[in-house]
Amino acid sequence: EYKDMSKERMMEIRRQNCNPMTMKVTYYKKPVYIHQGHMQWLWDVDGRRYLDLFAGVATVSVGHCHPWKEHKNIWDQLWHTTNIYVYSPLHEYTEKLAATLPDPLKVIYLTNSGSEANDLAMLMARLHTGNFDVITLRGSYHGGSPHTMGLTSNAAYKYPVASGLGCHNTMCPDVFAGPWGGSNCRDSPIQTIRDCSCPQGSCTANDKYIGQLNEVFATSVPSRIAAFFAEPIMGVGGAVQYPKNFLKDTYKLVRERGGVCIADEVQTGFGRTGSHFWGFQGHDVIPDMVTMAKGIANGFPMGAVVTTPEVAASFAKGVHFNTFGGNPVACAIASSVLDEDGTQQISHNVGTYLLTELAKMRDKYEIIGDVRGKGLQIGVEMVKDKASRKPLPPAAMSEIFEDTKDMGVLIGKGGVYGQTFRIKPPMCITRDDADFFLAVFNQALHNYMEDHH
Ligand code: PMP
Repeated sequence: EYKDMSKERMMEIRRQNCNPMTMKVTYYKKPVYIHQGHMQWLWDVDGRRYLDLFAGVATVSVGHCHPWKEHKNIWDQLWHTTNIYVYSPLHEYTEKLAATLPDPLKVIYLTNSGSEANDLAMLMARLHTGNFDVITLRGSYHGGSPHTMGLTSNAAYKYPVASGLGCHNTMCPDVFAGPWGGSNCRDSPIQTIRDCSCPQGSCTANDKYIGQLNEVFATSVPSRIAAFFAEPIMGVGGAVQYPKNFLKDTYKLVRERGGVCIADEVQTGFGRTGSHFWGFQGHDVIPDMVTMAKGIANGFPMGAVVTTPEVAASFAKGVHFNTFGGNPVACAIASSVLDEDGTQQISHNVGTYLLTELAKMRDKYEIIGDVRGKGLQIGVEMVKDKASRKPLPPAAMSEIFEDTKDMGVLIGKGGVYGQTFRIKPPMCITRDDADFFLAVFNQALHNYMEDHH
């Protein structure tokens, strides 16, 4: 066990030697000084236990310091080699990962992060199609590297430099905060956002948001494009769920223009949405490429692009090399993630229970505007009041957030205005954990309402 430094010393070093951003995003007024983790739990340096419902941003997919035995010997046998050599962990893993995906998604490129995976996917899409322009949804996050910064559509992550040339955004089909949407719009275990007057079998909101996409096609890009990127359910963007046929219709329009469709499963993959192993399966589409990272190796740095043999062939003309992509330790851990039993079922069961109970709280509290998501990819959008649907201001968000933490539960924040609480725990939580969180969150909301109303 390592010995912790004092809190004061860590903060001093953080101020002097760490990315200054880490001071800004310490996240809490009173920071959490983490000592260790086990499964869904974290302990701070004072021995206080927290239920971790954010999992290092949906990254600890199956549990902190999972007590696996199988891959432990890899540390003694082979720490590193690259894929110019042939070694079992790489091949065991790629075969296993490919088996989780439908045909023709069978060719795998391993990377070290989500940004790197999306960068690579963008490059491959351009080389394969011979086109340049890429479209993403407003409010999305796809990475922070110079190219992926262009895919990302959120001012907080943008810098005034030449980045993301050829990247364009279309309106996010957000059926809660956007101008159009009704109760039948999205696929969620819970519904009732607002009354829906669409005739059966049609969705006016979807038509309008697709209309916005058509406007982007008509005004902002050449007639042929390279790619469309979207998450199946938004992560950093605040668990936004789209109208039911939005991705299906979009994929068709993108393909008509010569583009490939890319599902960013960095947060939604590996069973997190409960109903499906991959988020895109919930939209009844098959992408041309799938990018993944975060939960892929339960917190060990790793990412991947999975694509079709056809796209891979277009990319094989040059040499693509990645030193750590395919690292044996990363592959062994990622293999254990795929072998873990029951995670998707837990996501479905505990996630649906959380969503159902949170929806009851939405009906009780004026400041909960929307509860949405699937499985353990959950968003709770906070509003000034239900009528205006205006975002609850950051100071109020912080107060509830800090109080929730002080009572022993870590959650996340997201959405373009930081107005959405995000719940994406390790997929080993129990119904008792869910009850603990619900009681804590209810108390935090109660405290806030007592103090301010
Ligand atoms: N895509 C999505 C959907 C993400 O949430 C993130 C990270 N928040 C990324 C890509 C980028 O991943 P990384 O931080 O590993 O580069």
